[in-house]
Amino acid sequence: MENNLSDLIWKLDETHSLRVEEYETLISRRTPESAALLRELAVRRARESYGNRIFIRGLMEISNICRNNCLYCGIRRGNYACDRYRLTPDQIMACAEEGYRLGFRTFVMQGGEDGWFTDERLCRLIQSLKSRFPDCAVTLSLGERSRESYKTLFDAGADRYLLRHETADSVHYGKLHPPEMSYSHRMKCLEDLHEIGYQTGCGFMVGSPWQTDRNLAMDLKFIEEFSPEMCGIGPFIPHKDTTFRDCPPGSSDLTCYLLSIIRVMKPTVLLPATTALGSIDPRGREKGILSGANVVMPNLSPDQVRDKYMLYNNKLSSGPEAAQNLSDLRSRMQAIGYEIVTDRGDFKRL
Ligand code: SAM
Repeated sequence: MENNLSDLIWKLDETHSLRVEEYETLISRRTPESAALLRELAVRRARESYGNRIFIRGLMEISNICRNNCLYCGIRRGNYACDRYRLTPDQIMACAEEGYRLGFRTFVMQGGEDGWFTDERLCRLIQSLKSRFPDCAVTLSLGERSRESYKTLFDAGADRYLLRHETADSVHYGKLHPPEMSYSHRMKCLEDLHEIGYQTGCGFMVGSPWQTDRNLAMDLKFIEEFSPEMCGIGPFIPHKDTTFRDCPPGSSDLTCYLLSIIRVMKPTVLLPATTALGSIDPRGREKGILSGANVVMPNLSPDQVRDKYMLYNNKLSSGPEAAQNLSDLRSRMQAIGYEIVTDRGDFKRL
C-alpha cells in the first residue's frame, strides 16, 4: 500500500477527521491492503465500543404509499405498477407483539410519506407501543415532516429517527430527485431532528447514478461534521419500474470499505449491515459486520405485505432477513464470532 494511504488511515483513526480531498484519495486509490487495514481497525473500534454484541431492530414497513417521486425508489408515487398497502394500527401492534416475543427491543416504523399517518395517529401509535412495551425504543423513518411534527412525535415518546441525506452534494441530489424535492429541506430536517433530541440517523446509497468519488468524500465529511448517532448506508440497486432501471448496482466491496471508514471515524456510531447489502451479496450481512457494522434490521412486517415494499429489484424479505428466522441469523452471526442481544441498543456517548 502507498505510504500516503496508510498515513491517511492512521490519521483518521487518531483524529477522526480528514479533509474532503483526503477522503477522496482514500476512496479513489483504495487497494486490497487499504481495505484490510481499515477493516482491522474498524472491527477493533466496534469491539471497543460494543464488544461482540450485535443489536437487532424489528423493521415494520408500515406503508408503501408515498407522495414523493424519488427517481431511484420502487415505491415512488409515479410507479403505477406498485401494489399499494397501508398497515392498520392493530396490525402494527400485532407485529410489535410478535417482535417483542422474539427478543426485539427496538421497533422501527418505516414507510413512504403517506398522509394518512398524521401526527395524531402516529402519536397514538407511539404511545400505545411505549405503554405496551416500556422497555423498548421506537424509531421512526417516515421521511420529511415539519419541525413541529418531529417535536410532537418526540414528545409522544419516539426515541430515534432515520432520514438518509442520500447525497451531501446538492447538484447530485438534484439528479436523483424531482425538482419539487430540495436538498436544503432534507438537510434542515436532519438539523431539526438532532436539535429536538432524537438519536438521529443519516446515510446514503453507494453507487447511485452519477455518484463520483468526490460525492462519496462529501458524504463522509458530512457524516464527520453532523455526527449522527446512526448511519445507514447500502448499495444502490436498480428497480425495474424506475428511471434508473438500467443503471448498474453499487458494489458490496465499496459499501464495506465505506462502512469501515465510518466506523474508524465514529467509533460508537450505530451502523447497520443493511438489507440492500444482504440483497446484492448473499454474505453481505456478515461482510458488513466484519467491516465494522454492529446492527441488523430483520423484517417484522406481516407476510402478506413483505413483497410489496419493493424499493429495488430482488429486495430480501425472507430467510435471515425475516424476524421469524432469528435463529438462522443468530447462528450466522455466531459463526463469525458475534452475539445477537436482546437490548434496546442505544447510542453510546463517549
Ligand atoms: N420515506 C422515508 C424516507 O424518505 O426516508 C423512508 C423510506 S425510504 C424508501 C428508505 C430508503 O430506501 C431511502 O432513504 C433510500 O436510501 C433507500 N432506497 C430507496 N430506493 C433504493 C434503491 N433503489 N436502492 C437502494 N436503496 C434505496
